[in-house]
Amino acid sequence: MEIYTNEDIRPGVIAGQRIAVIGYGSQGRAHAQNLKDSGHDVVVGVREGGKGWKHAQADGVPTAEPAEAVRNADIIAILTPDMAQAQVYRDIIEPHAKKGAAILFAHGFSILYGRVAPRPDMDVILVAPKGPGDLVRREYARGRGVPALFAVEQDATGKARDRAMGYAKGIGGATGGLLETSFREETETDLFGEQAVLCGGAKELVMGGFSTLVEAGYQPEIAYFECLHELKLIVDLFYEGGITKMNEFISETAKWGSVVSGPRVINGETRERMREILAEIQSGQFAREWIAENEAGKGAYDALVKADSDHPIEVVGAGLRERMAWLHAPKTAEAA
Ligand code: NDP
Ligand code: MG
Ligand code: MG
Repeated sequence: MEIYTNEDIRPGVIAGQRIAVIGYGSQGRAHAQNLKDSGHDVVVGVREGGKGWKHAQADGVPTAEPAEAVRNADIIAILTPDMAQAQVYRDIIEPHAKKGAAILFAHGFSILYGRVAPRPDMDVILVAPKGPGDLVRREYARGRGVPALFAVEQDATGKARDRAMGYAKGIGGATGGLLETSFREETETDLFGEQAVLCGGAKELVMGGFSTLVEAGYQPEIAYFECLHELKLIVDLFYEGGITKMNEFISETAKWGSVVSGPRVINGETRERMREILAEIQSGQFAREWIAENEAGKGAYDALVKADSDHPIEVVGAGLRERMAWLHAPKTAEAA
């Protein structure tokens, strides 16, 4: 697979194009600041008085009401939560975007599942950094960058690919390495990763291990350290040097235990469930259910997320983390 860097992208490829960033949350804040520092003409579309508006004012980034920001923009980045995008497109972008503007997403959900159907005159592109907004900003500020994916869904102007690559470069994505994908591949793999492995899978593994130890009579504090706290040390090794690096650093006993017991936890049955989850993502069933849940007022969502925060591991963890001084520096970590 080809990985593009800054040299592969013609300087000034999106010069003179006005960029409107709609939403100033995790991604919006990082994109807008990086694009501005890269010399682009950026305006942030935020609702006056809202949290995003306050942050943008404090950061000194030009702001306008969302419809006003869209009106003169050549590239419109829609960086509001996925579930808000259909309404933002319908009420703000479709009626106000100029002919031949590009609409840019950081996740393909709204397009893949037909929630947003952009006008035929518009370019439809995606630039998705592989990291949370605060890291995208921090790495850029250090002269580095977080790798990013880009894709073109609709090329109305003949310039869609240039626009996506130029924007990605402006947020530091080509410094980190830029990979080409499609809306379908980005969306389906992102949803699968967060459900089966990163957020859903890892969380259940941690909670399941904790409960097994506590039910067997071990002290919850000890179980917390073994099943949650130390996970970071292992994940850091994966991140820095893959499975091989973890194997270089753990004891022989841990390695033997991991090769004989790991496959009993994540076994053929678990992988069958993973395939099921993937099939539900591919068929659109997951998206339909999530949209229906939103339309019904998110009662089940609220109850299930609350159950997570009420889990005994959270009670014991809060007390232990209070003593870990290094954790108290402010930092956000919305990764998925
Ligand atoms: P956030 O939840 O952080 O975005 C919140 C922003 O959207 C706020 O500025 C909020 O305004 C604004 N907003 C919400 N609803 C509306 C509305 N109806 N009209 C106008 N503005 C609105 O979003 P994320 O940054 O997490 O996600 C943005 C996109 O990036 C999504 O597509 C997501 O999948 C993708 N993504 C996110 C990643 C992440 O790390 N979070 C990683 C990669 C992709 P206000 O302040 O006024 O409430
Ligand atoms: Mg993700
Ligand atoms: Mg995601």
